[in-house]
Amino acid sequence: MTNGMNACMNFERFSSILKKEQIRLREPMARHTTFGIGGPADCFLLPADREELRQVCEVIREESLPFFIVGGGANLLVRDGGIRGVVICTGRMQGLQQEGCRIVAAAGVSTAKAARFAMEHGLSGMEFAGGIPGTVGGAAFMNAGAYGGEMSRIVASAVTCGADGTFHTYDREQINYAYRHSRFMEPPQEVVTELTLELTPGDPEEIRRRMEDFNARRHEKQPLEARSAGSTFKRPEGHFAGAMIEELGLKGFSVGDAAVSSKHAGFLINKGKATCADMLALIGEIQRRVRERYGVELEPEVQIIGEDRKEA
Ligand SMILES: Cc1cc2nc3c(=O)[nH]c(=O)nc-3n(C[C@H](O)[C@H](O)[C@H](O)COP(=O)(O)OP(=O)(O)OC[C@H]3O[C@@H](n4cnc5c(N)ncnc54)[C@H](O)[C@@H]3O)c2cc1C
Repeated sequence: MTNGMNACMNFERFSSILKKEQIRLREPMARHTTFGIGGPADCFLLPADREELRQVCEVIREESLPFFIVGGGANLLVRDGGIRGVVICTGRMQGLQQEGCRIVAAAGVSTAKAARFAMEHGLSGMEFAGGIPGTVGGAAFMNAGAYGGEMSRIVASAVTCGADGTFHTYDREQINYAYRHSRFMEPPQEVVTELTLELTPGDPEEIRRRMEDFNARRHEKQPLEARSAGSTFKRPEGHFAGAMIEELGLKGFSVGDAAVSSKHAGFLINKGKATCADMLALIGEIQRRVRERYGVELEPEVQIIGEDRKEA
């Protein structure tokens, strides 16, 4: 019996911690990713606070279940066979507070909402994040960035819950931030539960203007109306992925319903019914052509997870 099967069988144990609507079995991950792609998760859990999360993690450890963490699903490509084991979604972990020049945000708060909250409280430094989809937990994990800003500059500390249900606090230096990298990407797996963001006082109107300017630039350049996960590839040293893909004439190129956006070649989009297999084939073909022409290895920025669909 696989661990995934165990996860389904342990439904009863989770139901003593969470309400019925916080537990979903065989939940299609396509519903929880901005790509709209992904097979079912065996057991999808929505803890609403730290205590529920702690108890969920305890069961996961006691039953040796594999688990995966999802925020807003804005940087995820889930394979068509789905995810075996438990998926912990932080979407219900909410809470935003101002403490002087700091903001304390629960992991499931949307990044855009936290940026707006900062603006309303006259705190500057988070304008870059106003248009980044997903949660602050996901942004801290990914070290999300835009327009010269990056989470690494504003995260003062992060509280995490380990797989054994214990909480740790890491300050910025301990998070080992680098370009689209954080310590949370390395084992052991931990759920970021809360972030303290350090900002500086600023004029709310100026902050608003900067945010509006960034958002206008996004709308002009990015296919925000399409289903995507943002830039599919990391920026290779000394190059721009989108520019190379465009130079290769690949705008609009597709495999099934997975396509290179004709608005921004760095964005791969799901035109409707794309499968993960289509998207992976498209990613592979782009990587091959870029390698051949430029000798550059494009590395996906999107996190690719889950299992291939088994043939019947
Ligand atoms: C239209 C569009 C535009 C985008 N623009 C940008 C941009 O300008 N800059 C940028 O950097 N990104 C951009 N992205 C990508 C995406 O928005 C960011 O990476 C975002 O921070 C992901 O957050 P999320 O909550 O959706 O994470 P998810 O996609 O849910 O997860 C991403 C990774 O983070 C982990 N994770 C999530 N939450 C937690 C947690 N609480 N604890 C531990 N691990 C966690 C997951 O396990 C996964 O490995 C864009 C995406 C879209 C769709």
